[in-house]
Amino acid sequence: MIYLDYAATAPVLPEVRTAMHKAEEQFFANASALHTPGHLAMNQIEHTRNLLAKLINAKPEEIIFTSGATESNNTVIRTFEGCKIETSPLEHHSLIKAAEIYGGEGQPKLYSYMLVNNEIGEILKMPRVEEGAYLHSDLTQALGKIPIDVKALKLDYATFSAHKIGGPMGVGALYVRDGVPFKPLMVGGNQEKKRRGGTYNTVGIIGFGAALEKILNEESWKRYDTEIRKLRDVLAERILAEVPGSSLNTDLTPGASLPNILNVSFRAAEGESIQLYLDAEGIIVSTGSACAAGDIKPSHVLMAKTGDAEVAHSSIRFSFGLDNTMQDVDAVMRVLPDIVNRLQQMSTIPMLAS
Ligand code: PMP
Repeated sequence: MIYLDYAATAPVLPEVRTAMHKAEEQFFANASALHTPGHLAMNQIEHTRNLLAKLINAKPEEIIFTSGATESNNTVIRTFEGCKIETSPLEHHSLIKAAEIYGGEGQPKLYSYMLVNNEIGEILKMPRVEEGAYLHSDLTQALGKIPIDVKALKLDYATFSAHKIGGPMGVGALYVRDGVPFKPLMVGGNQEKKRRGGTYNTVGIIGFGAALEKILNEESWKRYDTEIRKLRDVLAERILAEVPGSSLNTDLTPGASLPNILNVSFRAAEGESIQLYLDAEGIIVSTGSACAAGDIKPSHVLMAKTGDAEVAHSSIRFSFGLDNTMQDVDAVMRVLPDIVNRLQQMSTIPMLAS
C-alpha cells in the first residue's frame, strides 16, 4: 500500500506503539491518585506537557490535554459563547459549526484563523487583532511540519491533535495563554487544574509524547521543508505535464503552503471516482477533507478559494509523511493518467470547455 493520506491521519509511529505498550503495563494507575503508581503516571503526563510546551514555545501550565482538535476547537468557541466570533472561511468544520451555533453579538471578540488549512495546505496570514480581542489558531496540521512559536504568532489559544503526527487518535491539546478567559467544556472533575474534567488518558498522552519527542529530536520540520517538499513538487510537476485537464489548488511557492500537501483538480473527472480507482491500485489519497467524505456538498474550502463547484468536486488531496519516497510518486504516476483519462472519456462534461 502507498499511503498518501497523512493529513487525515498519520500511521502510528513504531516509537509511539512501544511507548504505549509500556505505558499499559507500567502507568495504568489513575494519574490523579495520591499513591505512588498515580504519581508515576502523572510524571509521564507532565513529560508530554513539557515536550509540547517546548516545541511551541509555551509554558507547561498553558497546555491542557483534550480528546483531540475537535474538542480543543469547541472549548475555545464555548469560552466565547454569545460573543462576536470571526473565522477564516477555510476553518475546519469543528470550528465553523461551533462558531455558527455559539457565536453572538456580545463582547469580547474572538478571532479564529488556522495557520495551515488541512485540504489545500495553505498557510494563512494571522489577522490584526484589536486591543481587548483574542486570537485562536487551529495548529493541527502545522504541528511538526513547520516551526511553531505561539508567542511570536501572538496567540491566546491554539489547537493540536496527536493522530496527525503519528500519535494515537482521541488525544489532543489546547494552548491557553496565561490570564486569558477560559471556560471548561468538561466540568465535574478537578483534572487539568479544573480546566478539563475527566480521568486522564495516560496511555494516549504518553503516545502523544513519544510522537512529540521524535519531532523535537529529529527537527522533523526541516525534513518536510527539503525531502518532502521535493516529492510534493515533483508529483505536482508530473501531474501538470502528464495528466490533461489537471490544475493545482495548492500554491507551491515556499511559505505559501505546507510542504506535504498537494490538492489537484482534474477537469471532467470526479474526485471520489479517482480516489476509488487509486484505492484499487493500493494508493490511498483523499478527496477534499476526510471529515467531509460522504458529504455530497462540495468542499467549503475549495468553494471559498475557487467559487467553482466543478473544481471542488474533481479534487484529490495527496498528503505526504516522512516515510514516503520518490518511488511512491512514480507509482502514482504509473496509474493516475490512465485513471483520469478513463473517467474523462465517460464524462458528460466536455474536456475543452474551460
Ligand atoms: N482541525 C483540523 C485543521 C484538522 O485537520 C482536523 C482533522 N481533520 C481537526 C481539526 C479535527 O481533529 P480531531 O480528529 O483530532 O478531532
